[in-house]
Amino acid sequence: MNWDVVIGLETHVELSTQSKVFCGCSTAFGAPPNTLCCPVCLGLPGSLPVLNEQAVELALKAALALNCTVTPVSRFDRKNYFYPDLPKAYQISQLYAPLARDGHLDLPGGRRIRISEMHLEEDAGKLHHHADRTAVDYNRCGVPLVEIVTAPDLTGGEEAVAYLEQLRSILQYLGVSDCRMEEGSLRCDVNLSVRLAGSSELGTRTELKNLGSLRAVRLACEYEAQRQIAILESGGQVRCQTCRWDEEARRTVPMRDKEQVGDYRYFPDPDLPPLAVGEEWLTHLRAEQPELAHEKAARYARDWQLGEYDCATLTSRRGLAEFFEQVVALGAPPKQAANWIMGQVLRRLSADGLAVEEIPMSARSLADLIRLVEQGTVNRNTAVEVFDAVFTGGDPAEYVRTHRLEQSSDTEQIASVAADVLAQNHKSVEDWLSGKEKAAGFLVGQTMRALGGKAPPALVGDVVRQLLERERS
Ligand code: ADP
Ligand code: MG
Ligand code: ZN
Repeated sequence: MNWDVVIGLETHVELSTQSKVFCGCSTAFGAPPNTLCCPVCLGLPGSLPVLNEQAVELALKAALALNCTVTPVSRFDRKNYFYPDLPKAYQISQLYAPLARDGHLDLPGGRRIRISEMHLEEDAGKLHHHADRTAVDYNRCGVPLVEIVTAPDLTGGEEAVAYLEQLRSILQYLGVSDCRMEEGSLRCDVNLSVRLAGSSELGTRTELKNLGSLRAVRLACEYEAQRQIAILESGGQVRCQTCRWDEEARRTVPMRDKEQVGDYRYFPDPDLPPLAVGEEWLTHLRAEQPELAHEKAARYARDWQLGEYDCATLTSRRGLAEFFEQVVALGAPPKQAANWIMGQVLRRLSADGLAVEEIPMSARSLADLIRLVEQGTVNRNTAVEVFDAVFTGGDPAEYVRTHRLEQSSDTEQIASVAADVLAQNHKSVEDWLSGKEKAAGFLVGQTMRALGGKAPPALVGDVVRQLLERERS
């Protein structure tokens, strides 16, 4: 039998605010446990939440970039449950009137994934399991989250990963979140079911949790689809359960029957007023929206004739794209700038263990270096040497000057060096005269060598050939 896999993703993204969503505590990652808490985020009696406007603004930016309709007046609700990482025993979330609905995200291949809704909520604390006990850190309580829910439109693990990569790129470009899966600032739950190929009815789904990387998402989807297919093919029924991904065993492990929305006894939070978002605010945010990765890629292809691979690589991170654009703005030909960045800059970043946001070299420096090559002051090999020397700081032109790396375009000087080479290599000259074209290449090489590589190879070639022609007569 042929089966189709159906996946819907619920992605939680921590917003890049300085302070929490309902109090003034810091959102810093990695502080000592329980040092970033106050009565509000701990839910102590008498404390009252106050909504952080910056969190709303970031969530709205995401909503607009994901083509959602923003709810004019959204509301906050309490989702009630007990868990040790949730001291209030409820989470402030949005159920009845979420911040935004009905958006979509287009995958690089062109497939459109519908986004059914986005809502704002607070994060819970974090449990640390030790051998003999479990400790809880409440620092993360109240960190603002936006949850982005897709329709069941994804068709497999690879497409789920492509969606998450595209989502991450958009949110990072917007500055809405750093989306670091390894730090938990982007977390996703997978809802997956299978159905007979061509059927339009949805099968019973399971929900997969504890997916700590994109690789885990892909592997868990593949494993779970096979698990469900095996159950159905042997005449069984899939249970609507929550499963945990076991990274070590590389399998999904059913944990509990999935809770239904009614289990949470949601009700409107009496402590928070409705959130009104006016058209003016949205107009302002729309005008401020930066150019996103796929828009930049399309522009590079159109205006600068860069290939698809170059465009994708250069726009893979906003920091890299901005560096590239600065180098071009300073006069470097786009193709040259692209080659230098994708070759040498990325090589050095990975060798030095630096992120693209941490390029120590200035755009001006790289633009200057490219100009030195274009003008023939240095050849490419020398330029790479200069690049390595000035990558962490320094002026290329000055480096070339103080290390005497300029190549000579002085024809007289080249001719005199070449004449010496010819005189010392009689045999090769004879070979050339008797029709062995290769011999010329050897002589050019020897001349380049005698010049210490500091002359344009094409010019040296011309000079050597002229001298050889003269030998003929
Ligand atoms: P819940 O109340 O469990 O969160 P939702 O209706 O909010 O359920 O859906 C959560 C996610 O599960 C959404 O991304 C949705 O697309 C997806 N989903 C719902 N039903 C199915 C199904 N049968 N197969 C795959 N995904 C599903
Ligand atoms: Mg849900
Ligand atoms: Zn607090």
